[in-house]
Amino acid sequence: MSIDFFNDYSMTISGKAVGGSGMFDAFNPASEERIASVPEASLEQLNTAVAAAEAAFPQWSARPIEERQQLVSRIGDVIEEHAESFMRLLTREQGKARKGAEWEIGGSAYWCREIAKQSLPVHVTELSTDRRVETRRVPLGVIGCITPWNFPVLLAVWKIAPALVAGNTVVLKPSPYTPLCTLKLGELLREILPPGVFNIVSGGNELGAWLTKHPKVSKVSFTGSTATGRKIMEAASGNLKRITLELGGNDPAIVLPDVDIKETAQKLFWAAFQNSAQFCVAAKRLYIHEDIYDELAAELVAFARTVKVGDGSDQGTDLGPIQNRMQFEKLKDLFADIKDRGQNVLLGGDIGEGPGYFVPVTIVDNPPEDSRVVMEEAFGPVLPLLKFKDLDDVIKRANNTEYGLAASVWGRDIDAARKAAERIEAGTVWINEIHTFSPHVAFGGHKQSGIGIENALEGLAEYTNSQTIVVNSAA
Ligand code: NAD
Repeated sequence: MSIDFFNDYSMTISGKAVGGSGMFDAFNPASEERIASVPEASLEQLNTAVAAAEAAFPQWSARPIEERQQLVSRIGDVIEEHAESFMRLLTREQGKARKGAEWEIGGSAYWCREIAKQSLPVHVTELSTDRRVETRRVPLGVIGCITPWNFPVLLAVWKIAPALVAGNTVVLKPSPYTPLCTLKLGELLREILPPGVFNIVSGGNELGAWLTKHPKVSKVSFTGSTATGRKIMEAASGNLKRITLELGGNDPAIVLPDVDIKETAQKLFWAAFQNSAQFCVAAKRLYIHEDIYDELAAELVAFARTVKVGDGSDQGTDLGPIQNRMQFEKLKDLFADIKDRGQNVLLGGDIGEGPGYFVPVTIVDNPPEDSRVVMEEAFGPVLPLLKFKDLDDVIKRANNTEYGLAASVWGRDIDAARKAAERIEAGTVWINEIHTFSPHVAFGGHKQSGIGIENALEGLAEYTNSQTIVVNSAA
């Protein structure tokens, strides 16, 4: 199927193209140019989308799981068939460089195919001649999926694929900053999925709030900020919706004194700055043992100088701009705070006026632990380096946050690294690597970084209810 990725954006409701009751604009963050007019759904249109999903549910959930798996795998094929267009559009609307776009779109196709291999076993807990007790998993109904702007396609797929495999139908609302790729995905899926199984509506935060409150939505799967996560949890209480919340993080990376400094410096750079640090699991606080602090800081800065920040569509760009003006202004405010406090900046530190929301890679030298650049989730390319001497002290500092998304520990002595890792309050702790996700590995935050799990059978189970059937055949 051939579609025009760069024009004519429409929502998908009940398998059909639907225009908005209003329109809003999408911008290229590298140039600040308007690139598209996007439909804005009214409450009535959202209600229609939920009703379509509800109507499609009985048939879809009754289909053998093998058929649903096949169709979800087919979504992966379709993403791959249109990978080039998806990547170009993703760079245009999100800003990320080519390599990042390849990672996201390639990952999305892979995720669909792998999630499509998953199913949840029936557990037989008692079996005798006249009695059988079994627990199986049944789908929930209509799932409301709400996604952010940093990985708009991949994070949507993380929700759509397991929701559909488990037998649910979906209404997806992308971020108003990055709706274009997901709207095109909806357009492609009109040809593949039965009408109503997958619906996509675009609009602002209010549309997300309507979806979260909707009495016919059984579950909300949300990725975004902790502040919005709290609102969703509250709004979901009306009909006791199930919720999965993947929220913010302020991930610590702890570097023990025995690392290979040069090699680790490069890995740490990407750990912190990939996707221009608009990454929930970016290493956001880098704790370095005092014995190697100066040398590692120098290596990091030297490597950072070789990295090119620019328009993601230019060949040779490693890191693109910040995705939107709201986030750009937040970063300007944080950079002003760094200056006001007289913190020592080893690299970067000055944000230009544009055009384009460009922020230079910025490395801050051992700021006080209670400063904003350490305590807040920057969600942009600014990294505080922090010195430590004592392991107990650094673990305490690493855990001194409301967040608990992920963390990393770097060191050659694996036992020591592992002991440190086990003391960190986070859903994922990587040792000597980072950001290695898998459809078959559970991911979820501790503390205020979230509720629930994505990926793995645990993640699939979150799109189901448990049902126990007790059969007595003695009568
Ligand atoms: P955000 O919370 O502002 O918005 C996310 C989505 O929620 C958007 O689609 C938005 O329109 C919608 N929304 C806003 N208000 C809403 C409401 N009241 N009810 C329902 N929906 C509403 O987040 P963002 O700025 O788009 O994304 C950045 C944040 O996401 C960061 O904090 C980052 O750490 C987090 N994030 C987390 C993960 C993870 O897996 N844990 C992954 C990526 C991003």
